[in-house]
Amino acid sequence: MNTEPLTLRVGNLQVELVRKDIKHLHLGVYPPAGRVRVAAPLALDDDAVRLAVVRRLAWIHKQQRRFEAQSRQSAREMVEGESHYLFGRRYRLGIEYVTGRQSIRVSGGRMLLRCHANADTLKRWRVLERHYRNDLKARLAPMVEHRAAELDLPRPDWRVRWMKTKWGSCATHSRRLWFNLALARVPVECIEYVVTHELLHLIDPTHGEQFLTLLERHIPDWRIRRSKLNLQILDSDADRH
Ligand SMILES: [Zn+2]
Repeated sequence: MNTEPLTLRVGNLQVELVRKDIKHLHLGVYPPAGRVRVAAPLALDDDAVRLAVVRRLAWIHKQQRRFEAQSRQSAREMVEGESHYLFGRRYRLGIEYVTGRQSIRVSGGRMLLRCHANADTLKRWRVLERHYRNDLKARLAPMVEHRAAELDLPRPDWRVRWMKTKWGSCATHSRRLWFNLALARVPVECIEYVVTHELLHLIDPTHGEQFLTLLERHIPDWRIRRSKLNLQILDSDADRH
């Protein structure tokens, strides 16, 4: 029988669809890129398949984020001497084995990873990732609050996650801002630019005249900050040494 996959679009998700002589629909998400594949019973039409995919969107996105995190860390060996960035500064990684709580300690030009002796690369990476998340949130909280007040906006809902192609985004309907966890690696003045940019989208969702006028007023040197940001590597895979 013909099992050549067809492609189905569900929102902005590309789904491979194979029809088979089976009773139930199977849906899978596969590494490394988080490809989505559906095997559907012959009798099920495209709309029914779409509906089944839509119902599992949250789960699909969760799996895709997991693969993304895995591919991010896979470029890192998390070993002594490796370079890692925090707020625009480069640090040499040091490793220290501990029995208690695993953590990162930053001092001088050194980033000390205190981990369990049996922690593999992924577990070591998780410790750094948690540090990035906490540190970035601690920087973002006062920044978002301060900038929102300056723009006369109510305190917005904001969250942090890994993003593949953007430093930040703004969901205007839910008034929620998303910031890329990779911002933990870039200079603070670049983070300020991203925060202001996304907050301004709550006033003007486009990059139109109003947006630019406000951006100019609140961050006069935004072009410099943006070019500095564009020099940063969005994907951690690229700054292997
Ligand atoms: Zn924008």
